[in-house]
Amino acid sequence: MTQPRGTVIAVDGPAASGKGTLARKLAAHYGFAYLDTGSLYRAVGHAVRAGGGDPADEAAALAAAQALDITKIDEKAIRTPEAGEAASLVAAMPPVRAAILHFQRNFAENPPDGKTGAVLDGRDIGTVVCPSAQAKLFVVASPQVRAHRRWLELKNSGSQVSEAQVLEDIEERDRRDAARAASPMKPAADAHLLDTSDLSIEAAFGAAVAIIDKAMG
Ligand code: C5P
Repeated sequence: MTQPRGTVIAVDGPAASGKGTLARKLAAHYGFAYLDTGSLYRAVGHAVRAGGGDPADEAAALAAAQALDITKIDEKAIRTPEAGEAASLVAAMPPVRAAILHFQRNFAENPPDGKTGAVLDGRDIGTVVCPSAQAKLFVVASPQVRAHRRWLELKNSGSQVSEAQVLEDIEERDRRDAARAASPMKPAADAHLLDTSDLSIEAAFGAAVAIIDKAMG
């Protein structure tokens, strides 16, 4: 693996832990490029479904991963619970992960728009994608808090799904993401754990900046 040109900040954690909001704010704060790696797996899962295929079909998922064009990702379509579920299925397939890994590393090594660093959020950034990242966060929150946040987001976008159903989906996805053999979700040995259960977005951001500033010297 080539060494990244600039600084890399890895932000990992389970679904709806707050890592996306945090990673976006960190990228703006440090002037770095931002990559939501979950959106890549979501786009693959969604593409298979949209083509009438089964996300559990590895050949179909790999073909979708190889054809992925990030400039064409439908941001609204990939945010549905079905796309999240499909993402977690295709993300368990090693050939799909290999195809996506290449894109992620290239982004970290060559951040776009002349940026001097990159923030990547996902499940395996600190462990597999960028193990030499200068700062690693593993963001957690209780399943109930995460389900409530995700349910509010879905409700605001017009979904009728119940909070209990969202909790069930999140717990199922956590189980699958943590139990899979290929790059399971887990904190890197040198990651800093940040529990956002009782923190506002601003408080979580402040805590993250303090950790990162210290890690980057
Ligand atoms: O972060 P988000 O919930 O959008 O991710 C969707 C799914 O993509 C996750 O449940 C996980 O299965 C997969 N994923 C992954 N590795 C990443 C990012 C996401 O396996 N780095």
